[in-house]
Amino acid sequence: MAGGDRPVAMQSDITIRRQSRTLQVQQGSQFLLFDTTGRLLLTSELGRVVRRGLNHRMLEVKVHRETDGQIWRSYRDLTEQDKEAQLKAITAVIRQAYKTSAGADRDWLERVLQWSGSTLALDETAFRKVYKPVSILPPDQYHSVVVQVAEGCSYNQCLFCDFYRDRPFHIKSLPELAEHLQGIRDFFGERLQDRSNVFLGDGNALVIPTTRLLTMMDLIQQNLNPMSDTMAAFMDTFSLERKSTEELREIHRRGLDVVYVGLESGADEVRNLLKKQGTASDAVEEVSKLKETGYRVGVILLVGVGGKEMGPIHVRETDRVLSQLPLTPADIVYLSPFVLPKNPAYIQQMHEMGMTPYSPEEVQQEWMGWQRRISSLVTAKVTLYSISEHIY
Ligand code: SF4
Repeated sequence: MAGGDRPVAMQSDITIRRQSRTLQVQQGSQFLLFDTTGRLLLTSELGRVVRRGLNHRMLEVKVHRETDGQIWRSYRDLTEQDKEAQLKAITAVIRQAYKTSAGADRDWLERVLQWSGSTLALDETAFRKVYKPVSILPPDQYHSVVVQVAEGCSYNQCLFCDFYRDRPFHIKSLPELAEHLQGIRDFFGERLQDRSNVFLGDGNALVIPTTRLLTMMDLIQQNLNPMSDTMAAFMDTFSLERKSTEELREIHRRGLDVVYVGLESGADEVRNLLKKQGTASDAVEEVSKLKETGYRVGVILLVGVGGKEMGPIHVRETDRVLSQLPLTPADIVYLSPFVLPKNPAYIQQMHEMGMTPYSPEEVQQEWMGWQRRISSLVTAKVTLYSISEHIY
């Protein structure tokens, strides 16, 4: 169905709203969202949202409001038992809605009712056959089709980053990519139409030599049209495989439109502590090249990393570096509240250097200060990048 909102149908206290690719069902303060196949996408109610990923992971986000006005969020993966209970409660609401529904609403609700906890759980196995875990995406890429042209990160040593420690870096061969693309088409089925662009995984796809990358992009375009009209990827700013201006221009012309760069900090002292290779000046050079060759960029900063002793230099040098970047309103600066990695190396390093980490509450305070400061410093949009909220 093309077009925007459909007329609202009311059954007792239940409201159903059909949109072109989603079905919304509301009962009181509970809001449910389903895709065209009838799979649950999210449920929300009074400060609690549960989002369901493609692999049947269900992430609960709760918003807490303190009496002093402070707002904070907590995150939890639902256990199998919790999922079952949640889905049963949702099914009860949908059964009630179904009884008094008619026409296209009824057809869609029928599709929703075809799913149960156990059939939805099969998505996990199906997803695993096609994908290595999609460990992280920029927040505006959650609705892309991820294509893992490479697996892992070619560097994989930043102290704060746990995302790809479970896999060796590997660039897919063309036959492997063709099989992966077929797997993606089979896995998504008609849900492919819900996706608007392609994200080239994993951690630094632009490390792939240009000729090979262009061939891979061609293959993606043959298989995932039209969502492959725009593509996005992470890029590091230190690899030996740095692209020339001509190469970047050609890659852009062939469909890569948005590039995300983990600057983390403008202070080399902080970057060194994190074992982030290259200097902040290298990052300025690479981002400038990206802008010159037509890309939109997302620059990611880690708020609260390096602890209290490094706080002032982290702020000062990051502001200085940001003011050198030729960012426009089409670009985004992401402020990512620092979360301690599972890998103990970062915290050990902090102890050895006698540094005092910020508490999660202090990171939140820092984040608010960074948001205010940087919003007045750049014309780009400044927004939250919470790794705790990531779900694909
Ligand atoms: S370059 Fe990026 S993906 Fe690789 S280890 Fe560092 S932060 Fe992680």
